[in-house]
Amino acid sequence: MSTSYWLDKSNSTNHNFDIVIVGAGIAGLSVAYWLEKENPSFKIAIVEKNRLGFGATGRNAGFITCGSVEHFNRLYEQHGNDEALKIWKFSEENLKLLKKEIIQDKANEIDFVQNGTFSLASTEKEFEELTQVHSLMSSLGIQTEKVEASDITKRLQATKFVGGIKYVDDAEVHPLKLLKQVASRLKAQIFEQHEVHNITTSGSARVVHTDLAKFQTDMVVLTTNGYSPTLKPFFNDKIFPTRGQILVTEAIEKFMEAPCYCNFVLDYFRQLPTGELIIGGFRQLEKESEVGYSDHITPVIQNSLEEFFRKHLPKFSNAKITHRWSGIMGFSADGQPLIGSLPDDPQVFFSGGFTAHGLGLAFHTGKALVDLLFDREVPGFISARRFSS
Ligand SMILES: Cc1cc2nc3c(=O)[nH]c(=O)nc-3n(C[C@H](O)[C@H](O)[C@H](O)COP(=O)(O)OP(=O)(O)OC[C@H]3O[C@@H](n4cnc5c(N)ncnc54)[C@H](O)[C@@H]3O)c2cc1C
Repeated sequence: MSTSYWLDKSNSTNHNFDIVIVGAGIAGLSVAYWLEKENPSFKIAIVEKNRLGFGATGRNAGFITCGSVEHFNRLYEQHGNDEALKIWKFSEENLKLLKKEIIQDKANEIDFVQNGTFSLASTEKEFEELTQVHSLMSSLGIQTEKVEASDITKRLQATKFVGGIKYVDDAEVHPLKLLKQVASRLKAQIFEQHEVHNITTSGSARVVHTDLAKFQTDMVVLTTNGYSPTLKPFFNDKIFPTRGQILVTEAIEKFMEAPCYCNFVLDYFRQLPTGELIIGGFRQLEKESEVGYSDHITPVIQNSLEEFFRKHLPKFSNAKITHRWSGIMGFSADGQPLIGSLPDDPQVFFSGGFTAHGLGLAFHTGKALVDLLFDREVPGFISARRFSS
């Protein structure tokens, strides 16, 4: 976005903060949380172009899963035993930290349930792969449960799946209530309706420009995830804006034991504690066009979500659909998040690239980003340096 000379000069409000975080999603608030834990006297501003949770955080399906975008055997093949296990443990720790620091006794208030998630196969080929994942994980001491087609019908009322596995430690949550819970722990000031369009240098300070104000600060943290390339071209080949679509039904009788991913973690369904059913995914059908910054929905994907509903949950597929929406995610080239500072400005830090798994990653990633800020070691698989040639 560009801003005219006249509008820029009319910005009469000037603020001074120690740290300015851009983006009020789970990543931005997590960084603020760990910064305040590091030093409670830090004066922090969180500057958001729309409102709290406007991005993917307020639009996602609420799965808090361990691992990454792919079945664990693929992670293992790609990274080897030790690194794959580290990646798994990193997300496992994310959930532990969320429970310890944020959720505490508020599970009911934010609809947090830790009853595992299923990964279901609708082909023998995928079931074979999931069986391999099950054995691999057992050998590494990570508990999963193998489930047959008959179990799936009994426990999930879902048909036309040939088998699957259950990740017993995964969880689910109301994502916006979780975000508000993090916000309630912060002293940081959140500036909504402040779109950042530029960051400039003034002596040793940085100035974050919005149409309404200028924020003078020592340090900037960009947590704009999928939107990051709109602020800095550095992200053009690192964080890829990718649309995800969803539909939600009216509340129906409770029938599911736990949320489910299927089709190689691309599609998913989940029943909320209040009975509504969420079905999402199918971006693979419009790979070329499900990119960019527009949050529109498309007939091809929405029809496929409905078809999925009729095929796999026929007993409930007469339920009325009440909401349909999309959100912009930030995908990285290798599926892992990235943290770092800009090569041309070491006072501007960033995190992003959560690749559809920010609830399972961003809280711990925020902690790691604060470690980076204080020159402590961070895991190589989340360091943006892995993409430097
Ligand atoms: C349909 C869908 C389903 C998903 N399901 C799941 C799931 O079940 N589990 C899971 O773990 N993940 C899921 N995800 C992904 C997850 O939502 C994201 O990984 C996570 O929310 C990323 O958080 P974030 O804070 O990095 O980004 P965001 O939540 O996108 O926050 C970035 C913020 O930056 C703001 N911003 C952007 N540009 C500017 C600017 N110039 N100035 C000021 N502010 C700016 C945006 O308005 C936004 O609020 C899903 C995503 C979608 C879209």
